Amino acid sequence: MRCPKCGFRDDKVIDSRQSRDSSSIRRRRVCLQCAYRFTTYEQIERSDLRVIKRDRTHEPFDRRKLVSSLAKACEKRSISLVTLETAVDEIVHELETSGREVSSATIGTKVLEKLRVIDEVAYLRYASVHRRFEEVDEFVDAIQALGRRIKPNSLQPELFAPETAPPASHPATAGAREAEANTHGRV
Ligand SMILES: [Zn+2]
Repeated sequence: MRCPKCGFRDDKVIDSRQSRDSSSIRRRRVCLQCAYRFTTYEQIERSDLRVIKRDRTHEPFDRRKLVSSLAKACEKRSISLVTLETAVDEIVHELETSGREVSSATIGTKVLEKLRVIDEVAYLRYASVHRRFEEVDEFVDAIQALGRRIKPNSLQPELFAPETAPPASHPATAGAREAEANTHGRV
């Protein structure tokens, strides 16, 4: 595998692991010339899965396109590569087990289902690009629905935690209190 940094053609695999559903293998490699580390993914090529696009033309399913569309939606969000890869693995698995043809709209819906759980902002970004909201109203509805789902303290609970939180809500403190109670009980 050609080093993406210096172009040298020899590398060494330093780590390799399977994805959760064993449908792909991730390999960490190190360039033998400049020691740059990079990652490659290996998976079975499914030449029979075809995507029907909006204009009714067909094309072979391309996992890389799926990965890049997700990565783009998640740009600058704190979402790990592993989380993204897992989502892609799950989507690909669902597509491969449901037939030989899939519409691009179906793929888009599956991506949205995943992003909705992973990151609300990435979800909206993807929706705005790939779903092409028919009307402005539809987009406003989506944003309002999003607003209702996000709890004010869900993103940074440590910043929004009430100052008068009861001590029992802290596991360590609760444990200590329990231990103390037990000691008193025995006396
Ligand atoms: Zn190199």
